[in-house]
Amino acid sequence: MKTILVTGGAGFIGSAVIRHLINDTDFNVINVDKLTYAGNLESLNSVSNNNRYTFEQVDICDALEIRRVFKQHQPDIVMHLAAESHVDRSIDGPGEFIQTNIVGTYNLLEQARHYWTALEQSKKTGFRFHHISTDEVYGDLEGTDDLFTEETPYAPSSPYSASKASSDHLVRAWQRTFEFPALITNCSNNYGPYHFPEKLIPLVILNALAGKPLPVYGKGNQIRDWLYVDDHARALVLVATKGVLNETYNIGGHNEMQNIDVVLNICDLLEELAPNKPTNVGSYKDLITYVTDRAGHDIRYAIDASKIQNELGWTPQETFKSGLRKTVQWYLNNQTWCNHVLDGSYKLPLANK
Ligand code: NAD
Repeated sequence: MKTILVTGGAGFIGSAVIRHLINDTDFNVINVDKLTYAGNLESLNSVSNNNRYTFEQVDICDALEIRRVFKQHQPDIVMHLAAESHVDRSIDGPGEFIQTNIVGTYNLLEQARHYWTALEQSKKTGFRFHHISTDEVYGDLEGTDDLFTEETPYAPSSPYSASKASSDHLVRAWQRTFEFPALITNCSNNYGPYHFPEKLIPLVILNALAGKPLPVYGKGNQIRDWLYVDDHARALVLVATKGVLNETYNIGGHNEMQNIDVVLNICDLLEELAPNKPTNVGSYKDLITYVTDRAGHDIRYAIDASKIQNELGWTPQETFKSGLRKTVQWYLNNQTWCNHVLDGSYKLPLANK
């Protein structure tokens, strides 16, 4: 039985990848996560008792610990998702983004390269390293109808996207210089269950249910290409296991939508699915509040995902309409998860709950 080591597996996308790996494959899964504010083991409650799942609370910047994890668990595949991921936080304090996204990726690459070299020497081949990245590395498509392809030049705008671009460049350098067996994926904005409520969609759902303002940056005219997180998780496992080494694959849902329309759609769904509103709320839409735009905010991202569709046969299962309905319903059905995130108790050791 093969083993996949997932970094950042307690995060939003990493936990979706692990649930998919445990539920739909027979891989052993090692989850390496530092448990920053964004790491939530409660997102893995449905699979954490499975005997194919192991958790290691480790910082990817810690060389000795990462070396130990490789030696102890002997992974066949690494899926690297651990990162600082929130653009606003990268503007308030870029240091952690440089440390985890650049230095951490460098450290992981080096430990993986030494491990892989030893494997090759003992004639065990087949090791693969999959680096998970974002479409934000390509910059802004404002004023064009263009789509990002795998050949689009890098032009990151924020400290977050610059740190992810740096990590992509490191992986490509390791591929070329050391012939390190790696792949890269760049994906558009994800949404879905277990999303931390600092990001637009869960923030709007939970604020609306609490009768709080729904903050929209600028005029809300920023366009993002939304992908349901479970569609991303399936794409990632496909690339990690079947993608061609040294290749890059763009992943996206062909769901371009202005932020204000996302917010209006959520309000409409809540009117239907949660009609019993807080007493201060007439219509959920009345809570929309326009706030000063984010510095350097990119206006439009859009992905050309034809390569992964044509070469690996991946297609998204959800439309934005079906995925958003599922997402809103999930937040309504999972009050315990939401309450533990909102009151901070998700950070307590499980034994203290
Ligand atoms: P997230 O913030 O929800 O989760 C990140 C996880 O990494 C957390 O569990 C955190 O505890 C862990 N982590 C952070 N620093 C660490 C460290 N030093 N060592 C070990 N673990 C650490 O992020 P996400 O939204 O799940 O994104 C996962 C990856 O996918 C990131 O690399 C991100 O750049 C990329 N990505 C995200 C999106 C999106 O829309 N969310 C889109 C495309 C690509």
